[in-house]
Amino acid sequence: MTEIVAKLYDTGSLSDEELKRLIETDDKAAAELLKKYADETRRKYYGTKVFLRGLIEISSYCRNDCIYCGIRRSNKDADRYRLSREDIFACCENGYELGFRTFVMQGGEDMYFSDEIIIPIISEIREKYPDCAITLSLGERSYESYKRMKEAGADRYLLRHEAASEELYRKLHPAEMSLKNRKECLFALRELGYQVGAGFMVGAPYQTTDHIIADLRFLQELRPQMIGIGPFVPHHSTPFADEKGGTLELTLRLLGILRLMFPKVLLPATTALGTIAPNGRELGLMTGCNVVMPNLSPVRVRKKYDLYDNKICTGEEAAECRGCLQRRIESAGYTVANERGDYINDNPI
Ligand code: SAH
Repeated sequence: MTEIVAKLYDTGSLSDEELKRLIETDDKAAAELLKKYADETRRKYYGTKVFLRGLIEISSYCRNDCIYCGIRRSNKDADRYRLSREDIFACCENGYELGFRTFVMQGGEDMYFSDEIIIPIISEIREKYPDCAITLSLGERSYESYKRMKEAGADRYLLRHEAASEELYRKLHPAEMSLKNRKECLFALRELGYQVGAGFMVGAPYQTTDHIIADLRFLQELRPQMIGIGPFVPHHSTPFADEKGGTLELTLRLLGILRLMFPKVLLPATTALGTIAPNGRELGLMTGCNVVMPNLSPVRVRKKYDLYDNKICTGEEAAECRGCLQRRIESAGYTVANERGDYINDNPI
């Protein structure tokens, strides 16, 4: 099995058969070697730097009904909120003082945040913070909307593809949602010049190794600058309440594989990974991750952006989160980089 890891390290690719064996093996030596090579590769391109992204969760209203998600429209128990523009600016101000140079505005697909509302917010942040990157994660919108938001000053867009297999996508989403549209959004964002982040949940209900391989192949086709993966974690008020969550082991395995397949990619150690294991994010960093996304949302709304059960970092102020993460990053042997943290060598695609 270690020879498959060595091949992945040397060539950046594997056959479907080899990927399947590597994803499924319980060979400890292979897992150790994967972790070692993943860390070596991240250090080669990024040294020990870990980039911070200040996450501002702007709304928990959502028109979509993704089966796994706690803020799906059918969840009548969800406590909904949306931030005002003043709230959002206050988060940015707080984040800037804490050293963040990327702001991520994420939310459910809340129709309130039309172009008329969101564009002046983006423009104002762009004007106030010329040295910061603006990342959006607002779901599927029209090409025109993506274009206008880019022109207003947005730099990056996070839109996980969620599942590249049509069959799995349909089991995780209601009939009115389409994988085709989601993929089209990702290609449009790339064409518009955004740095793009795609990704998927690990261990989602019905997910098989073949589905995961389809995800990896789709990522090879899209070539995103960022890849977000984290374990699926059940939410008690969704139809998947009683399903099993994704494991730490499989998530780390895939993070290592992604680092070797996409050596320069920006790879977050996600909040979901920190939720299923107390040192999950540290282990992620030691297996190729180079980004963390501390929460900048006002404490009063944090518990309401309730995607899955037991989500961590919902009780502390941003400054406490920042301090806690800095300690975690340093304890794992890495350093916090107070910079934008763009994708390196971003050749025009
Ligand atoms: N509306 C935006 C943001 C979605 S929330 C969009 O459509 O992109 C960000 C991510 O949280 C989702 O892409 C999904 O992969 C993840 N997520 C949602 N529910 C989850 C759950 N139960 N467990 C783990 N991750 C979940």
